[in-house]
Amino acid sequence: MTGVEQGIRDVWFLSMQGLGHMVSTLRAKGYTVVAPMVRDGVIAFAEIASVDQIASGVRDEMGPGRYRLVDDPLSRVFNYVVGQDSPKRFFFPPKLELVAMHVEGKRFVLDRTAPKPPKLAVLGIRPCDLAAIQVQDRVFGYGDDNAAERCESDTYYNQARKQSLLIAANCTQPGATCFCDSMGTGPRAKEGYDLSLTELGGGFILRAGSDDGRAIVSELPVREPSPSEIELGQLKIDQACERMGRSMDTDGLKELLNEQIDHPSWDEVAKRCMACSNCTMVCPTCFCSTVTDSNDLATDVASRTRHWESCFTHQFSYTTAGSVRSSLRARYRHWMRHKLGTWWDQFGSSGCVGCGRCITWCPVGIDITEQAAGLRGHPQASSHGGKRLSERGLMV
Ligand code: SF4
Ligand code: SF4
Repeated sequence: MTGVEQGIRDVWFLSMQGLGHMVSTLRAKGYTVVAPMVRDGVIAFAEIASVDQIASGVRDEMGPGRYRLVDDPLSRVFNYVVGQDSPKRFFFPPKLELVAMHVEGKRFVLDRTAPKPPKLAVLGIRPCDLAAIQVQDRVFGYGDDNAAERCESDTYYNQARKQSLLIAANCTQPGATCFCDSMGTGPRAKEGYDLSLTELGGGFILRAGSDDGRAIVSELPVREPSPSEIELGQLKIDQACERMGRSMDTDGLKELLNEQIDHPSWDEVAKRCMACSNCTMVCPTCFCSTVTDSNDLATDVASRTRHWESCFTHQFSYTTAGSVRSSLRARYRHWMRHKLGTWWDQFGSSGCVGCGRCITWCPVGIDITEQAAGLRGHPQASSHGGKRLSERGLMV
């Protein structure tokens, strides 16, 4: 079969009712289905039992330091852009107990090891987050036998990924802080998905990207799409590119970041940054963690827990000689140089997928696209009203 024939065979039309069928099919196959829901005033991925639980009637609006859900009675099924939460948490949990044990006589007795991850179907994952999962696959050694041999792969991550099914929802309505188009990660899912959906009025263009995806489609009420439906899907994605809220010029950026170690903009951003770590907590590719040990005095059980950490904190690089990056200038610069520069050396890709979350959820609206443009001498090149601190430290 030629690639073209394969491509045609792998495209279908799925009705709105068919989406409900997809959810029940996935559940019948033992998947825990997670999808975008409204939780605590934001869009977040959580388990659904039926398609009615997907966030509807609302859309999310965002800007630097700003996120709001607004009513939108005419909204589509996948009307959201991205919430603060990415599917990262399902593969790399924010908090994971690794081991628990107690002492009996002269020996340690194992009480618990890390839990087994669920068999997960992520429905409605945006292309930028899909690209972020591929970035994290490289970080955690997913599918890399050499990494496993060197003990550089993460057991929980690899188990979770191996049994996961990723169903992308292509973006037809980007947010004001999105720049996936310029990072080459969206608004269409290019690879790494099992199934992808492009929403049209009344249904979806459905594509399969893996045998697991095709197996699901074989149980769904699909039909061949008309040429005009395929064209409409493509048009909507093309229009999303044109409406992208921001962009980043990545040409020569790695070299620029190395050359501009002493650029005055690092001092400027350090005056605004509060080291709150929000940017790293919401980033779908950030992977730093630490472990803490604790003892339960009531049960005598000692446990070790891994949890997310941030390179923005003082203690993150603390050694016996003090913090390696003691100034905010050094910490912000380190984060940005890693994301856009040295990540290439480590993992062969950018560490930024252009989701815009670090701009949206930064309390003072620090904008990574603005910072990158500033290094080129165009501080306003992608400015969209980033917030500043007033003399009293309030957001203005
Ligand atoms: S650095 Fe910012 S825009 Fe890039 S992937 Fe992380 S949160 Fe998204
Ligand atoms: S850049 Fe913004 S979100 Fe990140 S640590 Fe600084 S103030 Fe917090």
